[in-house]
Amino acid sequence: MRLLVVEDEPDLLTGVVRALRTDGYSVDTAIDGQDGLFKAESVDYDAIVLDLMLPKLDGWEVLARLRRTKHTPVLILTARDRTSDRVRGLDTGADDYLVKPFDVRELLARLRALIRRGAGQSSSALELGEVRLDLAARTVTRGGEAVQLTGREYVVLEYLALHRGGVVTRTDLYDHVFDENDNTLSNLIDVHVFNLRKKLGQDFIVTLRGQGYSIR
Ligand code: CA
Repeated sequence: MRLLVVEDEPDLLTGVVRALRTDGYSVDTAIDGQDGLFKAESVDYDAIVLDLMLPKLDGWEVLARLRRTKHTPVLILTARDRTSDRVRGLDTGADDYLVKPFDVRELLARLRALIRRGAGQSSSALELGEVRLDLAARTVTRGGEAVQLTGREYVVLEYLALHRGGVVTRTDLYDHVFDENDNTLSNLIDVHVFNLRKKLGQDFIVTLRGQGYSIR
């Protein structure tokens, strides 16, 4: 899952990005509203964390302009616990909000819910034959036994699972699993799919030659 965090406070940005990457997300960042809007319009993010008080273009403006073209789930960060800010944010098209200072675990939980809802998945449990994903806990079992996945393996599996029944192209996976700073060999999609098949069964992920991957 690929996220964008738009935040101009360096310490907060660093902390949030570290927590998200530890959870296996790929994360792009912007430290002002202009760059944030540009990235939000150019990339299909799975969710965006948007601060309201930003240089160049404030969060309200970023959100309003983004909503003319895209429905990417947006969680706004508001410094003031003012009802009017939250109402205005939700009216402008935000999907959720969090008041600073916040516990990063709450941010992670809210993002998981936003991403799930964005993919049309209201429950946090996903049954795919004998494989079961818990999207809230980010755990996987096969036939009731826990399966240990790396962070990247998990996000590849989660993306395929949320798009089950359809075809996910390699470009989709690259766009949603890796971020702007990623270009190492460990990023090879084939390696992650190979490892997922070893752990979840050879037929669990189908390769459609020339098209991409699918979970039926
Ligand atoms: Ca700010």
